Amino acid sequence: MSLNLERVIKEMDNTFKIFPAERTYGVEYAIRDIVEASLEAKRAGKDLICLNIGDPVKYGFKTPEHIVKAACEALLNNLNSYSESTGISEAIEAIRGYALKKGIKPVDIYITQGASEAIEFAISALANPGDNILLPSPCYPLYQAIVAKFQIEPRFYYLDEEKDWEIEIDSIEPLIDKRTKAIVLINPNNPTGAIYSKKTLEQILDIAERYHLVVLSDEIYDQFVLEEDLEHVSIAALTDEVPVITFNGLSKNYFAPGFRIGWGIVSGPEEMLKDYIEAIHKLARTRLCASHPLQFAIPAALNNENHYIKQVIFELRKRRDLLIDGINLIPMLSCVKPKGAFYAFPRFEIPGIQDLDFVKRLILEEGVVLVHGSGFGQKPNSQHFRIIFLPEESVIIKALERIERFVKKFL
Ligand code: PLP
Repeated sequence: MSLNLERVIKEMDNTFKIFPAERTYGVEYAIRDIVEASLEAKRAGKDLICLNIGDPVKYGFKTPEHIVKAACEALLNNLNSYSESTGISEAIEAIRGYALKKGIKPVDIYITQGASEAIEFAISALANPGDNILLPSPCYPLYQAIVAKFQIEPRFYYLDEEKDWEIEIDSIEPLIDKRTKAIVLINPNNPTGAIYSKKTLEQILDIAERYHLVVLSDEIYDQFVLEEDLEHVSIAALTDEVPVITFNGLSKNYFAPGFRIGWGIVSGPEEMLKDYIEAIHKLARTRLCASHPLQFAIPAALNNENHYIKQVIFELRKRRDLLIDGINLIPMLSCVKPKGAFYAFPRFEIPGIQDLDFVKRLILEEGVVLVHGSGFGQKPNSQHFRIIFLPEESVIIKALERIERFVKKFL
């Protein structure tokens, strides 16, 4: 039944309701949906271990003081007016410096309310309803939510668990048609923790160039590299021909997710990108600006050495190893070791239970909060959950004990 007809019937019925727009129907966000379930367990008196939200500040990590001070000073100096819509020049120059160090040649930089808004601008300024965008499976669910909202079709290419969650390059080309506008890459990856090799990135660029796709590269975890001999490579640094937007921000690398400061760096052939950049700027103008005083945290963060993350990575490596080794000792569970970010995506093979039920029961029975794999996407007939390894080792040990006790119920 069409919405209008449904509405008329309800009106005749005298039970008028406000109907939400159809564009909201497909919008889901699994990470927050689980928060609801965990609140229910809390009300029932469960002692919760939350391993579901990728917010380092919630686990005791701190925004470095010089970054907080820069924001506070701006507030006290009454820099509380609106700013330029795409951001203040000091911050744009700091981002340009960061980009150049990574080998990216920026054509445009726009500052937003978190990387989330930069991603939304990039997608909504590019694709019409009915166009399609290539997303990884599994994928950070913001992307599925944005394409649902703009009635863009998601087409999923696979990440291969058997090969440390590398991109299945062969799964990409069969998805492409005349209405394919872009390919999204999340590197380091949420939820798998994979970091892509230069060779893989070059293969993606080859496809993007042949089919005139924009590459949307989400690099919000680019400083979270947990392997000592590994360096994160920005895909934009490997090309002058392919249009790329690289997303980043203060949320993860600088431990300030609540600042809501992110950005997009547009690179590639300037003439080809002109209209697209103007469309992004138009969207930026409609919401006036990202928080003006908080933008002053950007130069403080990017123009200084990030000493804090080095200590954090030293700690995180131990937490990751403890968690992954522990999971791999539990029957019916297995997990690829993540190389970056702070997430793992373990697989479970338990007959007769779907991932969402697994996660809900684990919350209710053991108080361990994870996110179900289908919230990110997974291959048919496979079941996963996403778990974070930000908490202290004692918490990870307790969570492992509870997960093991729960899984053993199915033996
Ligand atoms: N991209 C990825 C891959 C993420 O995991 C997240 C947050 O978890 C974001 C973007 C959102 O970043 P922000 O907080 O800057 O909006």
